[in-house]
Amino acid sequence: MQIRTRLTLLFMLLAAGILAAVLFVVFWMFKKNTEEAFFRALQSKAEVTAQTVLRTEQYLEPLPPDWIAPEDDELSYQDNITIFDNAYNRVFTVRRDAAPVSVRDLEEIYQKGDSRFSHFNLLAYGQKTMSVNGFTYVVVAEGFCDPKELIELRNILILSFLFGVMLVAGTGWYYAGKVLQPVSEIVREVGKIQPSDLSRRLNPGVNQDEIAQLAATFNLLLDRVERAFQMQKMFVSNVSHELKNPLTAIRAQLDVLLNRERSTEVYQKGLNSVLEDVKGLSETEQKLLHLARVYTNPESITLAPARLDELIWQAIDQLKKQYPEYQATFEFGEMPEQSDALLIHANEPLLLMALLNLMNNACKYSPDKKVHIRATFELDGKHQIDFCDNGSGIPDDEKALIFEPFYRSPRHLTVKGTGIGLSLVKSILNLHQVDISVESPATGGTIFRLFFDPMASL
Ligand code: ADP
Repeated sequence: MQIRTRLTLLFMLLAAGILAAVLFVVFWMFKKNTEEAFFRALQSKAEVTAQTVLRTEQYLEPLPPDWIAPEDDELSYQDNITIFDNAYNRVFTVRRDAAPVSVRDLEEIYQKGDSRFSHFNLLAYGQKTMSVNGFTYVVVAEGFCDPKELIELRNILILSFLFGVMLVAGTGWYYAGKVLQPVSEIVREVGKIQPSDLSRRLNPGVNQDEIAQLAATFNLLLDRVERAFQMQKMFVSNVSHELKNPLTAIRAQLDVLLNRERSTEVYQKGLNSVLEDVKGLSETEQKLLHLARVYTNPESITLAPARLDELIWQAIDQLKKQYPEYQATFEFGEMPEQSDALLIHANEPLLLMALLNLMNNACKYSPDKKVHIRATFELDGKHQIDFCDNGSGIPDDEKALIFEPFYRSPRHLTVKGTGIGLSLVKSILNLHQVDISVESPATGGTIFRLFFDPMASL
């Protein structure tokens, strides 16, 4: 069921409930007032009749069973006034064929002095009274309370009820439609958004209401989707570019080697160059695989306790093995007495890759090919590891960009690289909840600074 229909039905049910309750109270009060007035009229009739009939001094004899009411009676057919003696014998009646009064009712009047009772629309008022000669009688005035007015009122109220409910249904439908119109608009606009044109945005309107918030949230979602799409596009084009270049180089080198007979020395030189390119390709492929895993399936990556200082040593070892021309110096501050203080939650292979990448970059982008690692281990706070180099530094406007996948500074296009390294570093560090900052001091060089939470503080 549509929200509009649901809202309208809800309005209708609510209004019908309230209206029915109000109209019922009106009807009930009117009925009570009418009955009260009728009882008062019966009471005065009973009193007048008692005064008239019982003014004689003699005792009234019970009526003979064949007593007939006089012809000139002005009372309406249903009305009747009856007088009973203390043995509940009828001593006076206006209509003999009127509904009989039960002994139980007469007893009640005797006990209470007066009483009102009713049977459907037949209302009766009874009163105990004393004649001038001291005899006790009961006068009962009965009458049919004509419900014509009540029926009329009831019909008017039912019509008003139906009209009111229909009016509420109509206005409810109209206003629900009006209120939901911006939502329908959002649905329409979102329906028009195609993957080929993700730049479209929803109009949040001028109001600061929930609909505007919904549109704004949708726009934020679209921002993220558009960014993800752009990243994906960039990723695909960059990956193909990264693969195309070395593959073209390999193919050209093999073509040259094979187009005629060469000396063993030339073959060796050529194949070594091809091997270098293949190694580069394999490195890129490895980084891409890790990047994809960290991006798309972070839940599958498990963390376990690992010693931070040992990880740094391992990374330095690997750097030296892979790049013998690079140099790494290190400076460890005061070591905590308890070695447990150096434990962190880590996925060792991934974190090692991140540390190695930072060391590699530092050497790659410094003319002296050196990285200096400075570690400050804290007992309570965060461990801080700095990777310092003597390169050209990173301008402020590039600092945010270098962590984007495939970003390569135009200043370094002659240096071999893929642009994947720092985005992978950032993703791995995010996974480990490690903060990273970049500084390029005026004195030159770059410092990548990492802040680790020791396991003990977690
Ligand atoms: P790659 O090194 O393959 O180009 P990265 O993602 O590792 O890719 O780095 C992105 C860019 O950040 C590099 O192209 C380089 O311009 C810059 N960069 C990274 N590390 C340093 C550094 N230590 N000193 C100067 N620039 C750096």
